[in-house]
Amino acid sequence: MINPFSKLGISDDVVNAVKDLGFENPTPIQEQSIPVLLEGNNDFVGLAQTGTGKTAAFGLPLLELIDFKSNKPQALILCPTRELCLQITSDIKNFSKNISGANVVAVYGGANIMQQLREIRIGVQIVVATPGRMLDIIGRKAIDFTNVKYVVLDEADEMLNMGFQEDINDILSTTPDDKKTWLFSATMPPEVRRIAKNYMDSPVELTMGTKNTGNVNIEHEYYIVRARDKYAALKRIVDFNPEIFAVVFCKTKLDTQDVAEHLIKDGYNADALHGDLSQQQRDKVMQRFRERNMQLLIATDVAARGIDVNNVTHVINYSLPDEIESYTHRSGRTGRAGKTGISICIINSKEIGKIRQIERIIGKQFTKAELPTGFDVCEKQLFSLVHKVHNVEVNESQIEQYIPRIMDEFAELSKEDVIKRFASLEFNRFLEYYKNAPDLNSSADDRGERSERGERGSRSSEGYTRLFINLGSVDDFTRGDLLSFVCNNGKISGKSIGKIDLKGVYSFFEVENATVESLFANFKAVEFNNRGVRIEKTAEGEGGSGGGRSRGGFGGERRSGGGGYAGKREGGSGERRSYSGGAGGGRREGGNSSGGFRDFSGRSREERGGNSGGGRREGGSSDRKRRS
Ligand code: AMP
Repeated sequence: MINPFSKLGISDDVVNAVKDLGFENPTPIQEQSIPVLLEGNNDFVGLAQTGTGKTAAFGLPLLELIDFKSNKPQALILCPTRELCLQITSDIKNFSKNISGANVVAVYGGANIMQQLREIRIGVQIVVATPGRMLDIIGRKAIDFTNVKYVVLDEADEMLNMGFQEDINDILSTTPDDKKTWLFSATMPPEVRRIAKNYMDSPVELTMGTKNTGNVNIEHEYYIVRARDKYAALKRIVDFNPEIFAVVFCKTKLDTQDVAEHLIKDGYNADALHGDLSQQQRDKVMQRFRERNMQLLIATDVAARGIDVNNVTHVINYSLPDEIESYTHRSGRTGRAGKTGISICIINSKEIGKIRQIERIIGKQFTKAELPTGFDVCEKQLFSLVHKVHNVEVNESQIEQYIPRIMDEFAELSKEDVIKRFASLEFNRFLEYYKNAPDLNSSADDRGERSERGERGSRSSEGYTRLFINLGSVDDFTRGDLLSFVCNNGKISGKSIGKIDLKGVYSFFEVENATVESLFANFKAVEFNNRGVRIEKTAEGEGGSGGGRSRGGFGGERRSGGGGYAGKREGGSGERRSYSGGAGGGRREGGNSSGGFRDFSGRSREERGGNSGGGRREGGSSDRKRRS
């Protein structure tokens, strides 16, 4: 049977190389582009998402068109980030491994330029470069582009978004006029159109998927929560997906650090990726993620550009991006190489409009999802554990020697008891944490932030007054505990208490109107664990009673999350489409100015020391040190 890549016109050496990579059939973009590009005499515009097999779509035809007997640069591939540059270089080296004399060089900032210059001097046919470093090398007159026949602009929209327009102009001006330009872009904003118009001659245009449409393999979901519950919602989503391997997007560097830091403290396998990390630090973080030694990568838009990691199960938009187009790039980190993925937005009720705008842009509808209850999470985790136990590979020869002693230890227990105990070992932690976990879902018509005490929409039942109390589930109170505490200290009957709404550090409860005065009269100087206990009337839909306690911190469900950070904004670009027309502003990321990497002290033992040991951590509940 003829190999499908051979059918497209790819030579045996390259076909064998891609077979070794496990490519059996061309992806749709490869099927469409390879025959066109192989002709070698067209400019080309490919509108395609990341993760669709783009690199081979242009890489394979390039290998057919280049003369490897010559050692002169004949193809230049420009891309926005170092990560993508390294990825493309590695892919092309793999594709060309059977071609004798084939040389590819990666030219990117933040690495030793001397080594790159040396490789260029020795002779290369294909240069893969980020624009800044490429210009530097051109400025040193260290490269001769007079033999360049093909220029590929990969992720063109990203390059423009990052402000590389002028650099690209300068670089292209050093290449021959008759070269062919192949442009790939996930979106087609006017700036990219302009490039196509200025630098190309009647390009062949191919749209893989519908214009601006996100990858069809990606499902889009949103959860509505109050801003202060965002972090708790994130944790719940993660806990409900024991095998999650996700990129979590935040707006600012500070946000990424805060979220990552708190996740680590809470026992999750996470780290932050942002522009204040040195290149070396970024590489380290990325390597851990790529090798799956990390489960949650918390990133800014700019830092995450070009991230090409397969099998990312979820993209979580902890904050929505300012520019709608960024959503396509964010969500494109999942659903790669034919896999399915889920892109999740955690929003507050005021952001529904933004979701509708994104829907229009990507041409797909979001599903409104409900955050699972504590019970759901516990159940999910329990069965994940059960499946793991069921599927674990038993090292018979090693464990054999211990079996008699183990059997002795369990001699008294029935099979059922043993199973119960093993399951409880891991499961109890979840039960404990999710005991009395509040419902985090906020409804779409639940407009705006509620004040902490006077929660709008939480009116008292007829004949009752709703009261605030500064005790909650973090004090190990159940509803019953709270009821007895209030009744004992307030010297009122349990019958006069109405609904009890147990929260984290505080709660609400209803008291019959007739009993309110006596409750307040008796409830004086009440303490719990050496802490003064307060009860207050809520403002009941008047927009809050004011004076809500400040709820600093950010951590478990007991703490506030949400917006309001003063973090420096990364990236941004004046011209991009924003929801409200507001300009992006902010400074360009990419400088490695201040280091600022933290060796998070909250990191668990295994995470700090364990990576080199190679123990692959898959993030199941048993792999994580959870909240203590
Ligand atoms: P790309 O869009 O080039 O970044 O490719 C995304 C992922 O798909 C990479 O990991 C590639 O190795 C993989 N890939 C590309 N083409 C194929 C193919 N024809 N069959 C299987 N995997 C592929």
